[in-house]
Amino acid sequence: MSNMQGKVALITGASSGIGRATAEAFAEKGANVVVAARRKAELESLVASIQEKGGKATAIRTDVSVAKSVEEMVAHTIKVFGRLDYAINNAGIEGKFNGITDLTERDWDQVIDINLKGAFLCMKYEAKAMLKLNNGGAIVNIGSVNSFLGFPTGSAYVTSKHGLIGLTSSVSAELAPKGIRVNLLCPGVTDTPMHQRLRGIVGDDLYDKGLLPTVHLQRAGRPEEIAKAIIFLCSDESSYISGSTLTVDGGLTLTM
Ligand code: NDP
Repeated sequence: MSNMQGKVALITGASSGIGRATAEAFAEKGANVVVAARRKAELESLVASIQEKGGKATAIRTDVSVAKSVEEMVAHTIKVFGRLDYAINNAGIEGKFNGITDLTERDWDQVIDINLKGAFLCMKYEAKAMLKLNNGGAIVNIGSVNSFLGFPTGSAYVTSKHGLIGLTSSVSAELAPKGIRVNLLCPGVTDTPMHQRLRGIVGDDLYDKGLLPTVHLQRAGRPEEIAKAIIFLCSDESSYISGSTLTVDGGLTLTM
């Protein structure tokens, strides 16, 4: 896989789960890493762990739903490392699951603001920086199998993840001619804190006997496995892939 030594990767939602594993994977590839999320202590412990292994990393407290915060995140990246090559817009919440007649405006807004508007804001400022630096780049947004599949009580989350397909393909059409590839990676069930919370809601029995058997590989994915696919979408090995969705779900979407 292509050499990422000296390149700069910015990962949102890096305080946990898929984002954390992705930051570690980029650092292992030699990239300098910027980790962003709201929880500072988690980010700082990740930076320390990357630095202990000889990597370079910096943390910036960020709320992706707030334009000023996202602008500062990108400015911090350029200030510390001087460039931006890979941007992983991974921050997301599952929000509150509720039927359409009970879902509150506030709960709807929170999910859409973080999962969908957050990706818009991140791409807006990341693209500005990448275009100014004129080094090309790769952006990977993180969708879900729920970018394709709905489920009862999931309208806010499912809408936010469906919306990322349109957002990604439109921004790819704008940026790919300028050397910046933009793709959507859609994970299936992946063993992270978010996933453990969902397991708690679904219940162990339904999870083990109803959900997992629909996965061809018969198990949840590991965050490191999603991270490897994200790295692929940023590498030169995916040089002709832009505007695409890559589903990394062990086969789940084909059976559900
Ligand atoms: P986690 O809950 O483990 O991590 C979510 C991350 O997003 C945390 O680092 C959290 O950090 C960050 N985050 C949430 N809100 C904000 C915000 N407003 N601003 C900045 N950062 C924020 O979840 P996963 O690792 O499982 O999920 C990562 C992505 O993958 C999400 O987009 C999720 O929808 C998607 N996904 C996950 C699947 C799974 O099975 N795990 C399946 C399909 C998709 P903090 O709280 O510190 O801000």
